[in-house]
Amino acid sequence: MRVTFLGTGAAANPDREQCSVAVEAEQQTLLFDVSSGTGILRQLCAAGVDNSTIRHVFLSHSHFDHAGGLPPLMLALMECGSPSLTVHGARETLDAVRCSMYDELPGVEQWMGERLAWDIMDSGEVFHVAGKTRVEAVAVDHTVPCLGYVARDNGNSAAFSGDTRFCERLIAASEGCDLLVHEAAATEDMKEWLKMTGHSSARDAACAARDAGARRLVLTHIDRESKYAGDLLEEASSVFDGPLRLAHDLMTITISDRR
Ligand SMILES: [Zn+2]
Repeated sequence: MRVTFLGTGAAANPDREQCSVAVEAEQQTLLFDVSSGTGILRQLCAAGVDNSTIRHVFLSHSHFDHAGGLPPLMLALMECGSPSLTVHGARETLDAVRCSMYDELPGVEQWMGERLAWDIMDSGEVFHVAGKTRVEAVAVDHTVPCLGYVARDNGNSAAFSGDTRFCERLIAASEGCDLLVHEAAATEDMKEWLKMTGHSSARDAACAARDAGARRLVLTHIDRESKYAGDLLEEASSVFDGPLRLAHDLMTITISDRR
């Protein structure tokens, strides 16, 4: 399972693309969130992802920095003759995304025709992608309905937090995962702001990784570098003693096959 970070920045970070991760497994590419706009296309190209292999998009929630790249992605997939695309997410997320797409790119659903499918996922539901690849949804704790996801492939696993406050359900779902990709929007000194905006501190992310028994932790959804980046790692490393990294755009992690 190969995990490529296409975008790792929070909504107002001008130095990074916004949130999106590509997981390549079973000759397919799964995208977990799609960044904020056309930048997703540049990043897919820079990461060497063949767009025609993108079959599934798992949206965490409807905020623009996670879902805004869907209209340009659909246009690109149509151009490359992609055989199908299924967009997964919570009911409220898919409703909101389809509603804004109706304004932003009228006709795209008709142009995609039967190649496009929408799949409402509830917390705890597992989607079987292909072969031994499956993705479980877990409701996390943000300001709007939001899903985290755990992708499993041949005994390897990677969990994605989406946007969330510290969340016990995510910890239970990601127990023993090879990789936890967790948002860390700020440090503990911003706790009140984090609570209000539905985000985690680096300490929250590290506690989640420790409690889940995750083998490694990557922090993402990074706000402006000058404000936080160094402090995030320091804060997280005081709690989680496994391998820990701050994500950067186009960083790749290969989770070795445990078969
Ligand atoms: Zn959000």
